[in-house]
Amino acid sequence: MNPTTTTGNDRLPFDVLTEIFPYYASQETPQYPTETLLLVCKSWHVAALAKHSVWSQFRIHIGHHARYNMLPNRTKTRLKRSGDVSPLDIELRNLVNADAPNFTEDFEDRILDTPPTVICTARFDQTGKETLSCNCEVFAYEHIIHQLYILAGLYGHYCRRWRSLLLVPSSLDFLEEQKLTDGDERLAYVLSYPTPKLVSLSIHHFIDADIPRFPLFLHTPVLTHLALDNCLIDILPNAEKLEFLGVSWTHHLAIDHWDRNGVWHRRDQEGVWQYTSMRCLKILKLNLPMRTLLRPSELPELRTLVLRGSRFPLEKEDMSASIPHLSHLSLGIGNMMLPFSLETTIPESLKRVKTLNVWYNGPFPSAWSLEQMPIHLVEVLRLTYSLESLEGDARMLGVVLKLIADPPEPASDSRILGNQEVIFRVNPGGSSWKLDPSSVREDVIELANRLEVMSPDNSWKSILREMELEIVPA
Ligand SMILES: [Zn+2]
Repeated sequence: MNPTTTTGNDRLPFDVLTEIFPYYASQETPQYPTETLLLVCKSWHVAALAKHSVWSQFRIHIGHHARYNMLPNRTKTRLKRSGDVSPLDIELRNLVNADAPNFTEDFEDRILDTPPTVICTARFDQTGKETLSCNCEVFAYEHIIHQLYILAGLYGHYCRRWRSLLLVPSSLDFLEEQKLTDGDERLAYVLSYPTPKLVSLSIHHFIDADIPRFPLFLHTPVLTHLALDNCLIDILPNAEKLEFLGVSWTHHLAIDHWDRNGVWHRRDQEGVWQYTSMRCLKILKLNLPMRTLLRPSELPELRTLVLRGSRFPLEKEDMSASIPHLSHLSLGIGNMMLPFSLETTIPESLKRVKTLNVWYNGPFPSAWSLEQMPIHLVEVLRLTYSLESLEGDARMLGVVLKLIADPPEPASDSRILGNQEVIFRVNPGGSSWKLDPSSVREDVIELANRLEVMSPDNSWKSILREMELEIVPA
């Protein structure tokens, strides 16, 4: 959206303008910052300055060759224009070595509008030959910290108005290269101020000190949404009130720290260490390829569970009884252990699942694991007999339909789907088709045709091979 191309701006009533502006501010880009509104005409200028909430949104992306001298002043001016009470929404990203855009979808963050990899002029030497590195990330990291201090204000004055914070200070490789793997106290210091209005917090690539001097986010009474991507912080803020939790640990730095800390613990009022409970949690998304999580053992409100990795990551004991309302399960399958551990840890919860989403998250660690996957997936399908809808990518739906048409031993004598029709759909964007409980093998083959997935008429060997389900090269 570029307001400078609009004509007849002066004819729009004042109150209409003040409704449009916050939308523009929420969609700002480095090319079209919110300040563009001030340049359109005098009436827009007046109207924009009159609406404080327009200036309370900060979408700051720092890439190669950022305009470091201009950005701090813009942030300070905006804070002044935002008045005294408007809640502040902050997105502060270091994009210099942003290499994994996938997590943005996983954690319901906004999709980046800036291409993460740009050609940096500092990467060419005098002869025009390209080198692999530049110093931009060092500058960007320092600049992010500077911006965060401005946005915090003196003694955390502005932190009291923070409503949402999305913070990506650097890439993880940068932390390793700069030997910042024991945390940067400058960041921890800012993040230890009280944030009484913070609802949503998403932090990527932050490793706190082993023994933190500045405990983070101790006062976040209304926080309900927390996403931690390759982070380690000492204690989960406001765990008791969280409704959404997304955790991703894929980098060895985060995993190493996890081994030394117990993020799921907290001290109770008597000072005794207790497992954290998450009694309000509705959505849990976990991407932990190599790890299991300890507790919480009870998730009484959990409706949606999204798992990506090699196993069910919560502790086994009594887990079934403690997820009484699970209705949506989404599985990124990259190992036969994931369906196997679900079938053994939460069989009772699986019986209540209404919608199932399965997608390929390989490559598989071994040929054996790949061959075993359908055998364990069929057990999960057999347990999810309340299923009403089954979605997935074309590869995994091909496996599912083969399982329904030709169930492997020892499940061949029991039905895979329950007694109601199930709606099938290929994601993303495929059309839906129903499968009736009375359907026979020919109906399943017809369904595979309609969904345009591999026909169950193929052998298991060719299904697994032709779907290019991969194995990690030895
Ligand atoms: Zn650069």
